[in-house]
Amino acid sequence: MNENRGLLIGRMQPVHKGHLSVIQETLKEVDELIIGIGSAEKSHTDSNPFTGGERILMLSKALREYNIDPSRYYIIPLEDIACNSLWVGHVKMLTPPFSKVYTGNSLVKQLFHENNMPYIQPPLFNRHEYSGTEVRHRMLEDDDWQSLVPESVVEVLEEIQAVERIQKLHKRELSEI
Ligand code: NAD
Repeated sequence: MNENRGLLIGRMQPVHKGHLSVIQETLKEVDELIIGIGSAEKSHTDSNPFTGGERILMLSKALREYNIDPSRYYIIPLEDIACNSLWVGHVKMLTPPFSKVYTGNSLVKQLFHENNMPYIQPPLFNRHEYSGTEVRHRMLEDDDWQSLVPESVVEVLEEIQAVERIQKLHKRELSEI
C-alpha cells in the first residue's frame, strides 16, 4: 500500500479557486491525491445544482488549467448513503487505498476519526469569497461569480447554462414554500 496517498472529499458545487488551492497545497504533502466528489448523485437543488458528471468535468478541466500532473490524482464520484456510521467503509470500498484524509468538514473528520483514520484540516484560502455558497449566491444575483472560479470552470458553467439553472431552481423552490 502506498502510505503517502491522501483523500480529499468535497461536494464542489461548483469547483472554485479554494478547492484548487487546497489541492495544490495537499499535493506538496502527498505523492498521490484521491479527490472524491461528494454527494455525486445529487443535482438540481438550490445547494446541489450540478450533477456529479458536471462536477467531474469542471474539476478535470481546472486541474488541467492549473498544470497539475494527471498521474498524481484520481477523481472518484462518491454517492451519499443513509447511514453515517457505514460511510467510511463505503468511501473505502470505492477509492484506491489511502492513509490520511484532508477535510475541513466536521462530520467527515468525526467519522474518519472514529474509524482510526488520521485527518488533516488544511488551511482555508479566502473562505469569505472562495466558497460554493458564495458562488451560487452570486450566480443567483447576477453578480461577479466568474472571478471566484478557474477560467475553465467558467467555460463549463456557461456551457451548461448554470446561471439560468440556478435561477430557475430558486424560483421553483420559492414557489413550493
Ligand atoms: P466542500 O466542497 O464544501 O469542501 C471540500 C473541501 O474543500 C473541504 O475540506 C473544505 O475545507 C475545502 N475548502 C472549501 N473551501 C475552501 C477554501 N476557500 N480554501 C481551502 N479549502 C477549502 O465539501 P464538503 O461539504 O466538505 O463535502 C463533504 C462531502 O461528504 C459531502 O458531499 C457529504 O454529503 C459527504 N458525506 C456523506 C456522508 C454520508 O453519505 N452518510 C457522511 C459524511 C459526509
